[in-house]
Amino acid sequence: MGRSSKDKRDIYYRLAKEEGWRARSAFKLLQLDQEFNLFTGVNRAVDLCAAPGSWSQVLSRKLRFCFFWEEVKIVAVDLQAMAPLPGVTQIQGDITKVSTAQEIIRHFEGQPADLVVCDGAPDVTGLHDVDEYIQAQLLLAVNCIKPILPCVSQIFRGKDVTLLYSQLKIFFSGVTCAKPRSSRNSSIEAFVVCQNYCPPEGYVPNMSNPLLDHSYDVDFNQLEGPNRVIVPFLACGDLSAYDSDRTYPLQLDAGKEYQYTPPTQPPIRPPYQQACHLRKNNLLSKEDALSNYKSISALQLVT
Ligand code: SAM
Repeated sequence: MGRSSKDKRDIYYRLAKEEGWRARSAFKLLQLDQEFNLFTGVNRAVDLCAAPGSWSQVLSRKLRFCFFWEEVKIVAVDLQAMAPLPGVTQIQGDITKVSTAQEIIRHFEGQPADLVVCDGAPDVTGLHDVDEYIQAQLLLAVNCIKPILPCVSQIFRGKDVTLLYSQLKIFFSGVTCAKPRSSRNSSIEAFVVCQNYCPPEGYVPNMSNPLLDHSYDVDFNQLEGPNRVIVPFLACGDLSAYDSDRTYPLQLDAGKEYQYTPPTQPPIRPPYQQACHLRKNNLLSKEDALSNYKSISALQLVT
């Protein structure tokens, strides 16, 4: 059988198959570990957004050597079902839901996780602001699991990424943005490695999220002290509404001509008034414009 063009193009895709990883993403976690030494002292790990499971494979291969295997607990969560992996407990659920966080904590018998990794990628809508926002929310959901060691999460390095860093700095004293070699340069994907979880005193984890769970009745003004620090962001309007960056053709009934509608209240003295006057009267040649500018300015001073 001939090789597919993807095989020829992507070295990590090919290597993943040769080494038995379920996805090329495995190399991203392995390369992050080379830099941050993620797995030392870890025996309870959570893999959020885990399907098809290459990060869980990395966890189970790495942790097997760190501790007695029977003490290791790995929980993998995804919206989608995933083929079983030895030593990995699977939860099919939404990581932005409190109930999923509770189920993870139940598996660890109330103990906090040592390591949380999240390769969360929302279904990309193409509306980058919404994608980045949902991605940031997936990441903030990671917060509710209280890792005592590092937390690794995929992010989109978009224009609002500094807001996300500021939010994370509230919870972790070390926040580093890393781009493994196996993550394509053409992609805005990157990873944040957060170290030293130290939430503000009195902070109560809260996953209320008006965009995702549609609970618009959350009264943010009720939140006090450290629980108020995350700036709520609300994207408004239906995704099927008109896009303000596009031009739409006129929709006229058959046989009807376009009727110009003047502005309800035109500006009183707009800065472009003078230019319009000059163009209307064909006075835009340099010399004419200068003398007309002077006479119009004088006129405006009088009125
Ligand atoms: N790390 C995985 C691996 O190595 O095989 C690849 C993860 S894939 C890039 C992203 C996954 O995020 C998808 O399987 C998707 O179902 C999952 N996902 C996206 N939003 C989610 C959510 N709210 N809750 C749980 N999983 C989610």
